[in-house]
Formats: sequence, structure tokens, C-alpha cells
Amino acid sequence: MEIDWPISLLDLEPFYSEIESLLEISGTYGFQPYPASQRGLLISNAMRELGITPKSVPLAIRPPKTTNGCIECSSCNHLVCPTNAKANILAKSVLDDSAFPGSISVLYGCFVNSIELRSDCHAEALECYVPLSSQRIRIPVKAVIVCANAIQSAALMLRSKSRHAPTGIGNDSDLVGRGLSFKISGYSVGYVKNPAALPAHWGPHATVYTDDFYEHPGVPCRFGGLIYEANLDSPGENIGRVRLHYIAGEEPWSHNRVMLDSAIDPHGIPYIRIAYKNSENDRARISFLANRAEDTLRRLGASCIERMPFSRGKGSSHLHGTMRAGSFPKTSVVDHCGKIHGLTNIYVMDGSVMNFAGNSHPTHTIMANAKRMALSLAEKEN
Ligand SMILES: Cc1cc2nc3c(=O)[nH]c(=O)nc-3n(C[C@H](O)[C@H](O)[C@H](O)COP(=O)(O)OP(=O)(O)OC[C@H]3O[C@@H](n4cnc5c(N)ncnc54)[C@H](O)[C@@H]3O)c2cc1C
Ligand code: SF4
Repeated sequence: MEIDWPISLLDLEPFYSEIESLLEISGTYGFQPYPASQRGLLISNAMRELGITPKSVPLAIRPPKTTNGCIECSSCNHLVCPTNAKANILAKSVLDDSAFPGSISVLYGCFVNSIELRSDCHAEALECYVPLSSQRIRIPVKAVIVCANAIQSAALMLRSKSRHAPTGIGNDSDLVGRGLSFKISGYSVGYVKNPAALPAHWGPHATVYTDDFYEHPGVPCRFGGLIYEANLDSPGENIGRVRLHYIAGEEPWSHNRVMLDSAIDPHGIPYIRIAYKNSENDRARISFLANRAEDTLRRLGASCIERMPFSRGKGSSHLHGTMRAGSFPKTSVVDHCGKIHGLTNIYVMDGSVMNFAGNSHPTHTIMANAKRMALSLAEKEN
């Protein structure tokens, strides 16, 4: 079967490198790997004994004992990093606005409700709503670059219905919002006989993982996912136990989709409705990964293993697919540079253009692809 996917790894490679270097991703470009935690070492040893290859998680965190390195305070998931060891776009100057001195305005709390089109398929203005002041504002535009995520970008296009776009912007082939794809995932926890041997965990959520099952003959349809250490947020909750997380990108199906409801919210904006269900294939893939994770827990000496109830039946936080990229307007919404087919100046540069969620964490790819698309637009403009 031929797959219409116009963005190759070679296209992305230089932008991956740039992002890795800007964010100082551990274990890449001369940056030290982040050392394995106590549980990470146990997991790695058990995996090796089972013939599985453990790897160090490429974290956007400067390792402990380096300048401004991590002090293992365990706040990564919820609080600002006290040492700036954890990368964020402001601390690392990812936003390069040097070519536009003083010309960028950020409108906080401004919700873009719709895009106004001219008869020649050219975006003319944004119609926005500021909930704090209940103001509606109209912003004339030269071009629109949408990065609102796979649910909101599609919803914005559907809300922008007009006589020039009767089913919404970019929706001539009824594809906007379709193919919503998340991750299927699960957790297994192993309890050791002597809890004192595994004290509280301080530090990042994960330090080791394996991608041995990313593609594997034992997995239904040969396409698996990742297994990685997944410590609980509060250090004490980890005493006496090791938790593993397994994730796999879900199959993109056109019936999984973002739509607009006929009901409107108090501001007059239609509610978003989502139709979504996991496939049998995806459930079988995650069961395979769960069994491999539990082999590892048994091997590292867990005396009791618990599989957490499956909790991602209604989607998860890695969201893709609703503004799919491709070469043909009949089967995709945007082209390889993010430009909506048939429109002159509306671009989408977020996770929604990725047709599949991938089997690993997506942000690095979303950033690299956005950078690539932005550069191609800048080259076109100059
Ligand atoms: C709890 C959690 C943990 C995660 N952990 C990881 C991880 O460890 N690693 C990883 O790779 N990924 C992780 N992710 C996933 C990652 O955050 C997303 O995949 C990524 O942020 C998606 O990028 P995006 O640019 O598509 O959209 P977003 O990052 O969602 O950006 C969309 C932006 O658009 C704004 N917006 C939306 N609609 C409108 C509108 N109508 N008008 C104006 N502004 C609008 C939103 O406020 C937001 O700022 C996690 C996500 C969550 C929720
Ligand atoms: S554990 Fe996380 S938040 Fe704390 S210092 Fe390290 S990187 Fe920063």
C-alpha cells in the first residue's frame, strides 16, 4: 500500500539536531547522558538478563553535578525547575525573534474564534474573543499560522465556515478533524519483598527505557511501542515499588474525529465534540507490551505485580492527525509545508499535521517539523 506522507526523516534531521542542541538534550551532541536512577539500574539489569536493550532516556534536563544541573527535587512535572536544569523555551532562547525587533505582540487570553476568508481563498482577518474583558476584536492579517493543537486547530477551521468555505476552512474533502490519533498506554507496578531496599525516589519521572519492541515480530501488525521507568510524582509513593509505563501510537481511523456540537457555550462558541474509540489491534499491542514490562518486573525480583486498570480509553495527552499533511487535496488537508491545500495564506504547524501519533513522545518532532515549515515559509516570503 502506498502511504502519502510527504515529510521524510532526512527533511527533519537538521531541525532535530538544532532542537536537541538548543534544549541540551542529555546524551546527544556532547551533552552527558542523564544517569540511571536506583530503579533505572534495576530495570536495566533485568532487561539485559532478558536480552532486552535498556537505554538512557534523552531528557531535556542537565544531569546532576553539572553547572546549574538537576538537584533531584522531584518537581519536574508540576513546578518551575529551581535550577533551570529542565529546559523550557524561554530559558533556552528557542524563540528567535531577532529578525523582527519590537514587532511581535503577544495577546494573552485572546481566543481566536474564526478566520475570515475573501472570495479568492485568502485569509483577511481573525475574529477573536477575549473572555476576561468580554471583548470581540477583529485583527487584519497578511497570513495565518495556526498552532493550536490537534483538537483546537481542527475546531478553529470548522468554526470558520462561511460562504467561501461552506463546510469549514480546508474541509472540501471532509477531512478536517478526522483521523484523531492519541497514544494507548498502561502501567504495571512491581512490589519488592523488602520495601526498605527500595527507598523513596528523588529526581525525574524516568531515566531508562527500551525501544526493542518499537517494531517486533511478536507484536500484532509488528508495530509496538516503548517501555520505560515511570516513577510516581511524590518521592515517598515509590517506596518498595517499581512502576513501568508502556505506550504505543494508536492507529489513525477516520471515524475518530473532532466535530462541532450544535450547542453553544455562554460566549456563543460551539462546543467541541469528539468521537473516539481504541481499535482491537491497539488493545492487543498494549497487552503485548504489558506482558514484556511484567517479565522485566518479575526478573528484577518483584514478588507481586499489579496491572493498573486501563485508563486511556477516551484518548490521552499526545494528540495528532486532524489536519493531516499529504500531497493530494483529496486525501490530506495541508501540504508538506503546512499550507492548507487550495488556500493562499493559511498554514498549520502543530501536532495536528502528523498523521500518526508515533510510538514515542512527540514534542521534539512537533518542534522540529514546525521549525522546518517556518523556515520554508520564510524562504518563500524573501
Ligand atoms: C500532562 C501532559 C504531559 C505531557 N508530557 C509530554 C512529554 O513528557 N513528552 C512529550 O513529548 N509530550 C508530552 N505531552 C504532549 C505535548 O504537550 C503535546 O504533544 C504538544 O504540546 C502538542 O503541541 P502543539 O503545538 O500541537 O499544541 P499545544 O502545545 O497544545 O499548543 C497549542 C496552543 O494554542 C493555544 N490555543 C488553542 N486554541 C486556541 C484558540 N482558539 N485561540 C488562541 N490560542 C489557542 C493553546 O492555549 C496552546 O497554547 C504532554 C501533554 C500533557 C497534557
Ligand atoms: S528534578 Fe526536575 S525540577 Fe527538580 S531540579 Fe531536577 S530537573 Fe529541575
